[in-house]
Amino acid sequence: MQLKKILLSTILTISILGTAIPPVSVSAAPYAATNKTYTLKITGKKQKKKACGANYKGKTIKTKAPGFIRSNTTMYSAYYVFQKGLGVSYSYSSKTWKITLKRGPQTITMKRGSKYAYVNGKKTKMPTPARRVYSYRQKKNFIYVPGSFCAKHLGFQYSWSSRKRTGTFVLKNSNNTTNKNTTSNNNASNEQYVQLKKPSGLSSNSITTTDDYHNRRLILNIKGNYSSFFKNSSNRYIAPDSNFRSYSVSYSGGYTRIYIRPRKNTIKAYQVTQTASYIKVRYAAPKSIYKRIIVIDAGHGGKDSGATAYGYKEKNMTLKIVQAAKKYFDNNPNYKVYYTRLSDTYPSLSARSDLANNVGADRFYSVHINSAGSSSTGTETLYNSKGYKSTSGLTSYKWSAAIHPYIRSATGFKNRGLVNRTGLAVLRHTKTASTLTEIGFISNKSEAKKMNKNLSNYGKAVYNSVAASFNKYPSKR
Ligand SMILES: [Zn+2]
Repeated sequence: MQLKKILLSTILTISILGTAIPPVSVSAAPYAATNKTYTLKITGKKQKKKACGANYKGKTIKTKAPGFIRSNTTMYSAYYVFQKGLGVSYSYSSKTWKITLKRGPQTITMKRGSKYAYVNGKKTKMPTPARRVYSYRQKKNFIYVPGSFCAKHLGFQYSWSSRKRTGTFVLKNSNNTTNKNTTSNNNASNEQYVQLKKPSGLSSNSITTTDDYHNRRLILNIKGNYSSFFKNSSNRYIAPDSNFRSYSVSYSGGYTRIYIRPRKNTIKAYQVTQTASYIKVRYAAPKSIYKRIIVIDAGHGGKDSGATAYGYKEKNMTLKIVQAAKKYFDNNPNYKVYYTRLSDTYPSLSARSDLANNVGADRFYSVHINSAGSSSTGTETLYNSKGYKSTSGLTSYKWSAAIHPYIRSATGFKNRGLVNRTGLAVLRHTKTASTLTEIGFISNKSEAKKMNKNLSNYGKAVYNSVAASFNKYPSKR
């Protein structure tokens, strides 16, 4: 800090005295600023791009050609970032359009506009081609190459911080604090993960996880105060992912909590593995991790009581049924269940079907209690014949038919069978096999009383009916 101050005052002094300084070096601000928007012409189209930065050895790489994101990958200037910043040898032929990047034994050649590069002679697909980009600010063309791809094949580790909008390059096998445990083979390159160093003495079983899918994040709960350790960016590696949202750490109530939020709107599934020295959190679309995904919806909630009679409220009954079902699902790792609610809250109808659509659920299951005149009785299951069109063979009708007998036998009420209802929002907007069970009638005094005593049995029936349905119609993935 001290040095910076001295430098600054020296510059000031010179510019005040400044007769010998040519004015251009004072007024020109030639380098691109991260996060600032620049107008660039890319593949013939004029477009505004927010600048991405590049870091190496703890410093920002100065570039007159701002980095930008294209096809989920950060594009960097071959000259400024790779040659000048990272010390890679670079050449470009305007005649043949051939770009060559060399570092030690590694050579990458590629052609402007082509998705294929040659890495030490081996044809390799890139996320997006190299481009010549015109900068309206510099009134010049620059050659851009896909950042993470080139970094990896030139022997750098590359990680992206979307908060800082900056990519960090670290020389592999250099003696720094970044983990050396990361696999660098080609198969692993598509994997999205966060890897954390473990502080010494932290045992694996003092770490638990919470899949906080409603907030699109995973929480690591760690007994003890390790917040400064986990806040230190040199103790983590985030595999290149330009859409990665946030990583944060807090400490309270005896626990360090690490919040990993890969996306703002998309729900990801997580796989957490540990070694003695690392915690690895892999994230991916739920369907690529789980075979059996169900969304269970306790009808109504919060401001919406649903049907009420004899002092009973539908919203409380449906919640207790779902909470009881959860106990069974929690003990069976073959199922991944996302719940629209687990307390007295009101998710909107669209939020309920959105949850199923977001996670790519195999089944949607909504639990309700019926209401009509005091003489109406029985258990019925609703489906929508005009809803989701099955491609896997499991229609909403078949799914409803699979669960209905389980609920009906748990209640022992009159069998009202399956009922086609095309107008219900949750059955209309959910893009998977969907069913809505009406356990019995709250408006009938004896059924209401019986139901209230047997809610946990119905929860068990919900669990059993799901299991039976998956046995009959297994997931095809
Ligand atoms: Zn209802």
